[in-house]
Amino acid sequence: MKLHEYQSKDLLAKYGVAVPGGQVTSDPEEARKIAEDLGGSCVVKAQVLMGGRGKAGGVKLFDNADDAGTFAKELLGKKLVSIQNPDGMIVEQILIGELIDIAEEYYLSVLLDRAEQKLVVMISKEGGVEIEQVAHDTPEAIVRLHVDNAWGLDTFQVRDAVAQANIPAKAQRQMVAMIIKLVEAYRGSDAEMIEINPVAWTPDGKLIAADAKVALDDSALFRHKEFAATADESAEHPIEAEAARRGIAYVNLGGEIGIMGNGAGLVMCSLDEVNAAGASPANFLDVGGGAKAERVKSCIELVLMDENVTGLLINIFGGITRCDEVAKGILQAFDEMEVNIPVVARVEGTAAEEGLRLLEGSQIIGAQTMQEAAAKIVAAVKA
Ligand code: GDP
Ligand code: MN
Repeated sequence: MKLHEYQSKDLLAKYGVAVPGGQVTSDPEEARKIAEDLGGSCVVKAQVLMGGRGKAGGVKLFDNADDAGTFAKELLGKKLVSIQNPDGMIVEQILIGELIDIAEEYYLSVLLDRAEQKLVVMISKEGGVEIEQVAHDTPEAIVRLHVDNAWGLDTFQVRDAVAQANIPAKAQRQMVAMIIKLVEAYRGSDAEMIEINPVAWTPDGKLIAADAKVALDDSALFRHKEFAATADESAEHPIEAEAARRGIAYVNLGGEIGIMGNGAGLVMCSLDEVNAAGASPANFLDVGGGAKAERVKSCIELVLMDENVTGLLINIFGGITRCDEVAKGILQAFDEMEVNIPVVARVEGTAAEEGLRLLEGSQIIGAQTMQEAAAKIVAAVKA
């Protein structure tokens, strides 16, 4: 789940990171008042879940409240389009922030390096709106510092990395402290990504997070109810958002064969088999254990919300759950809904024969192995 800038800043402030003051609103008149309270000097920033707002015209600096109010009115309801987000996003909220004087702009982020299986802190002296260009043209200008899983970060390592990144001596001490706080915030909030760009260095010698982007791990949101309540789904796939509401593990993959299976590993194998059979899977979906008719129905509904789906593959392995029970669930679900695309079900494990027998005579084509099931659904769709 992606957090808005103002939420990200609130989160980071709790961990002691310096952030500018400010307030969020969706009302232009209130925006003017907030600007007035800030003494007129302020920055008005679109709160949309996309990068490159500055270049898209979603960030503007002001020296008086009236101009800020006029711009707020213009910005609210407008669609912002950036290179990172060519489809654009409508501005529904804006942040009126305290204007900070920026002398230099640095870059910091924390994310997971999957290859190293460690957190990595990325540090650069070349922050600001051109960071993508920097990463592309001079990747050596971004220093990577891995966090040891057992020992965490040691201050001397951070100091070394900050110096390697050529952060000016005057800002090094505060930069080191900010990095340590960011890693704490990352761990404490179960984040997937934290990015501060720019990290602003002010003429009076303060290091401040002038922008912040935090994404939290959806699977850990139950530990962070305060954020779950304010989830903004505008940057999510609509079916994935619906699946999250229903408590179903679903990932859209963009292909044509809808998939439903029990157990994440089995579903992953099903995706591979569909690929091997010459088609592409539309989704990942783990129906979970038990799989009563109500849940099966809810899952099939989800898969069919995707208009690209032209066939459905069901892959069930009965362990403690008996296949005949699952087959009953599937039949009952199909009874209550109209499915007019080919459906193949592979049923194996405890009481598989009974399960397959139950499916006989229904619209569902039975299969005994995953390979057979994948071949059958791909053939049925291509026919
Ligand atoms: P982004 O383009 O979506 O990453 O939005 P940012 O919040 O990073 O804003 C873009 C640029 O606007 C920053 O790189 C800064 O140069 C500038 N900016 C944002 N906030 C302030 C501020 O409070 N003071 C000053 N002087 N510039 C700001
Ligand atoms: Mn930024």
